[in-house]
Amino acid sequence: MKENPWEIALKQLDEVAKRINLEPWIHEKLRHCKRILIVSIPVRMDDGSVKVFTGYRVQHNLERGPAKGGIRYHPDVTLDEVKALAMWMTWKCAVVGIPYGGAKGGVVCNPLEMSIGEIERLTRRYTSEIGIIIGPEKDIPAPDVYTNEQIMAWIMDTYSMNVGYSSPGVVTGKPLEIGGSEGRKEATGLGVYYIIDELVRKFKLGKPEKLKIAVQGFGNVGSNLCRFLYKAGYKIVGITDISGGVFNKKGINIDKLIKHTKGNRFHHIKGFKEGDFIEDYRKANEELFSLSVDILVPAAIENQITSENAQKIKTKFIVEAANGPTTPDADKIFEEKGITVVPDILANAGGVTVSYFEWVQDLQEHFWEKRDIYRKLSLVMRKSFNEVLNISKKEKCSLRTSAYILAVSRVAEAVRLRGIYP
Ligand code: NAD
Repeated sequence: MKENPWEIALKQLDEVAKRINLEPWIHEKLRHCKRILIVSIPVRMDDGSVKVFTGYRVQHNLERGPAKGGIRYHPDVTLDEVKALAMWMTWKCAVVGIPYGGAKGGVVCNPLEMSIGEIERLTRRYTSEIGIIIGPEKDIPAPDVYTNEQIMAWIMDTYSMNVGYSSPGVVTGKPLEIGGSEGRKEATGLGVYYIIDELVRKFKLGKPEKLKIAVQGFGNVGSNLCRFLYKAGYKIVGITDISGGVFNKKGINIDKLIKHTKGNRFHHIKGFKEGDFIEDYRKANEELFSLSVDILVPAAIENQITSENAQKIKTKFIVEAANGPTTPDADKIFEEKGITVVPDILANAGGVTVSYFEWVQDLQEHFWEKRDIYRKLSLVMRKSFNEVLNISKKEKCSLRTSAYILAVSRVAEAVRLRGIYP
């Protein structure tokens, strides 16, 4: 049975609170989301009928700055999932030291079964409904699972129409032409790449050419990560997505795979000929997780590595590009087996970091070069990785625990300084 992500998020917070002797009042405050908005979204479908979708926007904590977090379109979206993702955003922003609180949005829908027009109408109405709590100074959404640049453009346009002027700073992950940032599209994958690069150096794993990597998910994060890994010489021997999995012991040609995925609407890997292909994505994931690789990267969705499949995992390092891919039970198994897990709140923070850069550029109406973005992102990711690594050495704990210690301590200090209103 799928574990409840909100319960997982609370459990993680409770464990760290105990470890750092967090004052009970701060702990209690952080166990609650500041604001939860549930909206009904009526959409006229192409066949003339009206379907009402449910959408959420949750702001977990605003002590360190405005709320920030992606919007997800997925049939399995639940309020508890959105709350958990919002809390993880709070920790993520704190781990990399950017001045935001955590938020998340989600709409229960299946974009794979909807036309572009239906998705646009859904997006515009959802934006209008959550318009009362989002804004450049309040809460700034971004892309997440099954939402993209075009959807961000519709959000920016709808919000701008409602306030009466162009407001690029309301959302990040926009196209360049309307205030997007260089490097944002690939930022999460690139951030994961910098983390892997730093991990390989610090743990002295050797040359990229000698290292085998498996990646679950070939969407925005997975495909961009693979692109940078491939360019650096790493051998990617297995990739899965919702359409199946491709496996090649000699290494998958990522340039060709990306070209292949661009040929279909959902950018699926299905039909790629260079390697063995497993069509059933569940079987493909099973195969992927049992590969003997140096680094395994879950880059799809949450709850993928559980106590059921963790025992079969043979890798030494797991780098969580997705949010919440490993359950706490699986985490315990990895600690026992000596598998090092770089946690999501650190590993995939590149996206929100460049989102922050985008927002700063929008507010200043002054845009930076791509090389400046890459350099600044590299600095943030490597510095954060080393801060987390040092805490883990000092406290003799996992990288996840040390990332939480760092994040919760930073947020707690903000709560302490600001106090309780009134
Ligand atoms: P995306 O929609 O672009 O891609 C998701 C990928 O996962 C697709 O290839 C899809 O086919 C695959 N997938 C879905 N279910 C799967 C399953 N059961 N098995 C195998 N593959 C499956 O989404 P994304 O933006 O790449 O996000 C991926 C993960 O990274 C999510 O957990 C998201 O929350 C997280 N994340 C994304 C960003 C960002 O900037 N996009 C930032 C931080 C974290």
